Amino acid sequence: MGVRGASVLVVGAGLAGLAAAWDLHLMGARVLVIDARDRVGGRVWTVGDAFVESQHAEAGGDMIDEAHREIRTLAADVGLTLTRILRHGFGAVRLDRAGRPRTVHSGARHGWARLAHALAPVIRPYCLAEQRWDSPIASALARKSVADWLDEIAADADLRATADGLRGFFLADPDELSLLALVDQFAAGDAPAPGAMYRIEGGNDRLPRALACRLGDRVRLRTELVALSQRGPGVRATVRDWRGTSTCTGDYAVITLPLTVLRRIPISPGLPAQQREAIAAVPYGRATKTLLQFRRPFWRRPGRLRAFGSPLDIGAVWDANEEQHGPGGILALLAGGSASDATAAITRSGGAAALAGRLQWLGRDRSELVGSRQAGWTADRWARGGYAFFPTGFDPALRAWLARPCGRLFFAGEHTSIRWQGYMNGAVESGRRAAAEIACA
Ligand SMILES: Cc1cc2nc3c(=O)[nH]c(=O)nc-3n(C[C@H](O)[C@H](O)[C@H](O)COP(=O)(O)OP(=O)(O)OC[C@H]3O[C@@H](n4cnc5c(N)ncnc54)[C@H](O)[C@@H]3O)c2cc1C
Repeated sequence: MGVRGASVLVVGAGLAGLAAAWDLHLMGARVLVIDARDRVGGRVWTVGDAFVESQHAEAGGDMIDEAHREIRTLAADVGLTLTRILRHGFGAVRLDRAGRPRTVHSGARHGWARLAHALAPVIRPYCLAEQRWDSPIASALARKSVADWLDEIAADADLRATADGLRGFFLADPDELSLLALVDQFAAGDAPAPGAMYRIEGGNDRLPRALACRLGDRVRLRTELVALSQRGPGVRATVRDWRGTSTCTGDYAVITLPLTVLRRIPISPGLPAQQREAIAAVPYGRATKTLLQFRRPFWRRPGRLRAFGSPLDIGAVWDANEEQHGPGGILALLAGGSASDATAAITRSGGAAALAGRLQWLGRDRSELVGSRQAGWTADRWARGGYAFFPTGFDPALRAWLARPCGRLFFAGEHTSIRWQGYMNGAVESGRRAAAEIACA
């Protein structure tokens, strides 16, 4: 394939950008990766400095599923080991009659199975359309919100609580999320967090760091893309770094920026109207992830689950470092959609201790909080949200435009993946796909 000797500018040193750059480099291309942050990894961010006993936890992408083949292969290729985590899967939290949270031992699977059963009549036509987003069936599903559908089927409180709990997965509330997004997830045959789950030993950011290390000075940090043009024979990028504004050129560019950032960047000549419309129309879910380190992991008890989906303001809760040594333990709280706003408000008024105080249902008062870190992804300038979600009213036929090359510009990133959108695996796969597309160009 004809990429040997070609120069490729890769914008973004998250998993998508680094995976693309690594494949292109191996194919003999001359790559330059730029990223506005002072670290690689983007939304993969392993935090260690907030915790004692050399423990760490993931402030962004955390769990790798059994089926996430691309990221697992890439990790193995660079010599990293995956550790199995949360062997007993997810349980659920429900409010009792007095409004107090209680763990439900039938587990989240029961809730997801009920949701799957209720969705079956709408999943069937969608599967007949082979899950295509350009069919009238997808359009009809996209016009409805999950909340509309729950009303339509007169869903009971338990089913609604399961749907609310999915804020920790889709990062969107039932009234924001299109029914199509939910149907698509369940039609794929896997409820959230299926099968075995893994983390990279030593931290997920070891993968982007390992790729960046191999790419050496081909990765340039603190360098922001401000404009892009593809007039003439190649691509010309205007970038800003500590020295001021300058220009980078290349034969091709791979753009992996989150859509929230991409839509602010002038591109000339302009992209096709539908592509611009698609880039403008996809929101990113509000997301706040809090990591709480306790002197003792009071929640680790024989026979007890260590991960819970929840409709609570603090979001989903799980053990963030059971695979690590030391007497302490870290919990991750992932609050999506309106739970993200609620978590931020709780933190403003009472700090991390106020969030820890909402964990009584896990037996909280038995251990001391010794460290914490909160990542507010909505306010993060280079992400502006957790990950993409498809809102009610989004025209599904536009989705394909997110991944479509335009001239010498190739697009990758979690948001461009069909099967693994919102996952680290989707980012890696999309980067590798963009590299392969350039090789065919
Ligand atoms: C809270 C949270 C929890 C998650 N949990 C999971 C999970 O458990 N499992 C899972 O598989 N996935 C999870 N994800 C999703 C996963 O982290 C992402 O899908 C994936 O990391 C996205 O990679 P990317 O390369 O597409 O984008 P990014 O990682 O966002 O990379 C894009 C890069 O572009 C850079 N950039 C932005 N603007 C500019 C600019 N103007 N110029 C130059 N560079 C710029 C950014 O700094 C960034 O490094 C989670 C995400 C979040 C936020």
